[in-house]
Amino acid sequence: MLESAAIAKQPLVAYLSMEIALGPAMATYSGGLGILAGDTLRAAADMGINMVGVTLLHRRGYFRQQLDSEGRQVEGPSLWDPQDYLEPMGARIIVKIESRDVHVQAWRYTIEGQHGHTVTVYLLDTDLPVNGAWDRKLTDHLYGGDDRYRLCQEVVLGIGGVSMLHALGHRITTYHMNEGHSALLTMALLNDLHKLDSLYKVTPEDMEVVRNHCVFTTHTPVPAGMDKFPRSLVSDVLGKDLSTALQRLECFHDGSLNMTHLALMFSRYINGVSMRHEEISRGMFPNYPVNSISNGVHAPTWTSVPYQRLFDRYIPEWRRDNHYLRYAISIPLEEIWQAHIEAKRLLFEEVRKRTDIWLAPHVMTIGFARRATLYKRADLLFADIDRLIRLSKQAGPLQILYGGKAHPRDEEGKAMIRKVFEASAALRDHVKVVYLEDYDMRLAGYICSGVDLWLNTPRKPDEASGTSGMKAALNGVPSFSVLDGWWVEGHFESVTGWSIGDSHDSVEDTAAEVSSLYNKLEYQIVPMFYARWTEYARVMRSAIALNGSFYNSQRMIAQYMINAYTAPARGEA
Ligand SMILES: *Cc1c(COP(=O)(O)O)cnc(C)c1O
Repeated sequence: MLESAAIAKQPLVAYLSMEIALGPAMATYSGGLGILAGDTLRAAADMGINMVGVTLLHRRGYFRQQLDSEGRQVEGPSLWDPQDYLEPMGARIIVKIESRDVHVQAWRYTIEGQHGHTVTVYLLDTDLPVNGAWDRKLTDHLYGGDDRYRLCQEVVLGIGGVSMLHALGHRITTYHMNEGHSALLTMALLNDLHKLDSLYKVTPEDMEVVRNHCVFTTHTPVPAGMDKFPRSLVSDVLGKDLSTALQRLECFHDGSLNMTHLALMFSRYINGVSMRHEEISRGMFPNYPVNSISNGVHAPTWTSVPYQRLFDRYIPEWRRDNHYLRYAISIPLEEIWQAHIEAKRLLFEEVRKRTDIWLAPHVMTIGFARRATLYKRADLLFADIDRLIRLSKQAGPLQILYGGKAHPRDEEGKAMIRKVFEASAALRDHVKVVYLEDYDMRLAGYICSGVDLWLNTPRKPDEASGTSGMKAALNGVPSFSVLDGWWVEGHFESVTGWSIGDSHDSVEDTAAEVSSLYNKLEYQIVPMFYARWTEYARVMRSAIALNGSFYNSQRMIAQYMINAYTAPARGEA
């Protein structure tokens, strides 16, 4: 009784995200953003935090990836059956889209935390017989379709999300916008104060009321990565009243509605996802008080079974409280190494099952898997093929595992995959390079934990945080990365891994990065792996103790509680 009363008194946070990775078999996410959303809610459930999630159903998912012999991506639908995982809710709400009434239903997914507390996620669905054919498909494809389709989806998520939470009887204290896709929720909240057709009556005080209920996390330092919709489209989709209101509130910039700016205008707390990202975001949005809360990953989800067993033996408290991972520093090095050998074996078995390729267990294995898009530079390792061959002959043999999908309309991203295939052919007799198809949560679990070194080569400063290196760290896999995103703060040279280049400033010097990449591999990392394994295992262990203990979603959620959810509103003392 006492405990439930305490929970009831906690402020209720609604977390809205266009994608949420709820489980490997549910195609409701595409990559890092969705994984982060899922890890956030999983940590909230573990920690007994009063939170609900809202997203779209994405009946046809993102897509399934196949690659032909030259690395050309072929996309297919990734179908899943919501009935297998979700419970339909009785409540129905209506949103106005292009002046039509679009009916929305919600499905419920329950995340159960370690101690029995639950977090509910509502997945909004427009596939109802009362809706027209086009509207029924609005919640089918994650990041599919054109701008019009995307804006309609954002109406369902933002405006529909608020209505649905009301209809289900939730009294929300804080709306957390995970990226700008849900920013229209601010208009729904204003509409609760004034009907939309009288939004000309909105006062600065009204805006402050809305602001006091909203928190915004921005996830990209690249202006092109932010959703923008031209005025005519906004007027078509949202209707004249709302679009006039947005205009009056000065939400249009250069003739378009920028969802990041809308979210910034109406949030009491704004954060980037690493310290470096805060710095970049402050430069981009000088009129807003941007803070940072660095991302983290859900430790029990991303720790491989061999490491779970090891931690359970030496630091049994680690699941309840991830801080205890600090004490990994006293686990014997042989045990660290042995658990890793086992995780590597599990990965190689999975590779064999998927591809029929046998990887050599004793060969140093480098991993690179994430969204295939230009700035991630999957091809940087192949800048000088001859050098890479020489290096592997002199320092020790290498094999490399790749994975990652390119967005169906991202031609540069698709070209990256083809380049890896070309390099793989050129290296054939020297270094084995394998590109695994259909990178997803399950495959990420194997790759991030089973390789010997986690490579990351983004173009600075485009990586807001990155989280796959955090998954690797939990499994004792050191990162070898450009100093961008979380690595600027998680990197201690030869202690938690290695940097590519030695500065995080954004002056582009690809030649210097390439030479640092090859030099460190040839003279430091590969020789250490082969000739001085205890030194290598010491780096692995420090990666766990220093980074696993901090870059987890438990610490992250605690920081959101302290800084964003329960902190005094802007302007208050
Ligand atoms: C963790 C993860 C990502 C994020 O990778 P980054 O290197 O942080 O960009 C993307 N996709 C999947 C499936 C993941 O599990």
